Amino acid sequence: MKKFLLPSAQRMQIVAPITFLLFVSAPACSQTNNYEFNDSHFHLTNNIQEGPNIHEFLNMMGTKAGRVAIFGVPLQQQWSNRTDGDRAPTYYLHSDAPLYYYSFTDASIAMAYRSLTKEQQARFDPMITGFNPTDMYAADHIRRVLDTFPGVFTGIGEFVVHKEFVTAKIPGEVASLRNPALDRVLDFAAEVGLIVILHNDIDIPFASTVTKPDTEPAYLNEIKALFKRHPNTTIIWAHTGLGRIVVPATKHLALIEAILRDPDFRNVYTDISWDEVAKYIVATPEATKQWADLIQRYPDRFLFGTDSAAPTDQSKYLKVFYQYDPLWKALDPETSRRVRLSNFERLFDEARRRVRTWESTHKSALTP
Ligand SMILES: [Zn+2]
Repeated sequence: MKKFLLPSAQRMQIVAPITFLLFVSAPACSQTNNYEFNDSHFHLTNNIQEGPNIHEFLNMMGTKAGRVAIFGVPLQQQWSNRTDGDRAPTYYLHSDAPLYYYSFTDASIAMAYRSLTKEQQARFDPMITGFNPTDMYAADHIRRVLDTFPGVFTGIGEFVVHKEFVTAKIPGEVASLRNPALDRVLDFAAEVGLIVILHNDIDIPFASTVTKPDTEPAYLNEIKALFKRHPNTTIIWAHTGLGRIVVPATKHLALIEAILRDPDFRNVYTDISWDEVAKYIVATPEATKQWADLIQRYPDRFLFGTDSAAPTDQSKYLKVFYQYDPLWKALDPETSRRVRLSNFERLFDEARRRVRTWESTHKSALTP
């Protein structure tokens, strides 16, 4: 055996180029254990397509956020002079004027990503959001974005089907979990390997499920049917289905657990992003303990995200992460690490790898 051992100087000559190769060819798998969290849910812009530039945002990530799934907001708030006069709305709740699908958001995000160095790019997973999920052509938009910006995107979303206040503000056909257009989108995501972040409230606002525990949440059966129709699509159900006024029913955790326990839903993950969701989870020590117990039973199925939109400084960006302090303390260290860091790495690394492979075998008609 001894004759195969090389002098250390020779070993160094071999090891050094290998290390270099790993470094330049695999930034996609950058380890982020030195950071506090990876952010699975971040909007670089607000409802009027404004926000920090991506270089300013990198400074906000600083040494806290390792990697970020980054997207715009696909629903633009119209400034209607007839409705709002000179009062220019910047948020969907600040006007009765409609929202409309703003596909240019995808080009904006892609160009922001392309302005970064390779090492900086490795910290982002851009997502495609600028499609109308009621349109049978929505999947074609997604394909066109991949064609136009190969090597950029990891997934689709966050996009919205049923959302309190929002869905009703979009003119035209109302989005539905039963729409074949949505099936086309999720089928295409499975074919390419795109990871999906879907916002769909589990229930209508002020639902009777809060007072009548035996009633099923309005959208629960439809979303389970959707998940079941797409077993090969990796789906992150945003906010566990909760919202600002879609409050957790008494049996909310049991309903979520029933999904996580069922092998038919092994393609389904959920995120605990949004300060409006954190408010429920840290409301009382008892609530935090119940959530922590559930997360510890399914430690690979939950992801942390901020759901921050267009933050103006680091303290605003980090607000939700610190809001969750009671949860981080309640979880055992390994589960906390998975929710904050490694679940993101596993899912988004796999999606990146699959999308790059699909792109290399589907040469774009638009780029040489
Ligand atoms: Zn959302």
